Amino acid sequence: MGSNDPPPITARTKQCAVIGHPVEHSLSPVMQNAAMQALGLPWIYTAFHVKPEGLGAAVAGMKAMGLVGINVTIPHKETILPHLDEVDELAEAIGAVNTVHFHEGRAKGTNTDGYGFTQSVLADGEVEMAGATVLILGGGGAARGIAAGAASEGAKKVILANRTREKAERIAGDLERVYPDVRWEVVQASPSSLKNAAGRSRVIANATSLGLRLGDELPIAPEALTAGQVVFDSVYVKATPEGGGPGDTPLLVAARRAGCIPVNGLAMLARQGAKSLTIWSGMEPDEDLMLTTLIRYVRSKPA
Ligand code: NAP
Repeated sequence: MGSNDPPPITARTKQCAVIGHPVEHSLSPVMQNAAMQALGLPWIYTAFHVKPEGLGAAVAGMKAMGLVGINVTIPHKETILPHLDEVDELAEAIGAVNTVHFHEGRAKGTNTDGYGFTQSVLADGEVEMAGATVLILGGGGAARGIAAGAASEGAKKVILANRTREKAERIAGDLERVYPDVRWEVVQASPSSLKNAAGRSRVIANATSLGLRLGDELPIAPEALTAGQVVFDSVYVKATPEGGGPGDTPLLVAARRAGCIPVNGLAMLARQGAKSLTIWSGMEPDEDLMLTTLIRYVRSKPA
């Protein structure tokens, strides 16, 4: 066996996994196995396609079989909560779990999406959340995680802008109870309201699904951006037709042109996964290795 080979799979090998419906598209196994190998952990990370009607049985089975932990993706992030023995305050506030640790006979849920966001902005944008005003575009699960991450890291103000205003209001209302020191503002997304809100923000985060499909409009007009701002996009794509690299969405290409600092969603994916691995193992995985593994894999995939 060469020094770069993974440890052999034996009866002592421990297992982690991602569960989803569908799950075949998940990038988590690629980066998690690379990180586990680099840490010298005799663990493997796979994916399970779990249908909604089988979620409770799957959680009970994984706990009984001694899995170390799982990541949870669409559509189970919210519906898994009643199947867990414990859910921490952060995940409770977000209303969604993306990480479960099976420990001492209990299934414990938390959410590392917010960490993935704040760490990406810190590492790639060199901006700390503490004292910052953050504009979040969107009102779905990603917006919730990102808003909670910004608030938990001490953002001064979080502005939520969504097409459906009520969804943004619900997020602000839920999170205000847990983070009362943050100033929460909700706006109905429109070109003028987004321009006004962007003008007051240090960080702008796209948490809509705009950018996922070719031909999508931009979630915010380039004219609303100011040079020096950090523009984060939770959407991750292989590459844009305009010549961007992996993870470079049309929004990030426009942000770069406007003199902003682009931060892509692959970084968030890598860093939320790194935090999950820390929760399971107590070790500090190499986050940059996880990100470069992801980028290399995405680049090598056929279109
Ligand atoms: P979601 O719950 O379905 O929410 C989608 C959001 O996009 C909603 O707020 C929706 O607005 C908005 N939207 C959709 N089409 C729109 C349009 N034409 N104009 C304006 N707004 C529109 O999805 P999600 O789970 O939050 O995920 C959002 C994106 O983040 C996805 O692309 C997902 O892949 C990505 N994501 C990335 C990571 C990561 O680690 N990088 C993690 C989680 C999610 P309404 O409320 O008005 O419908």
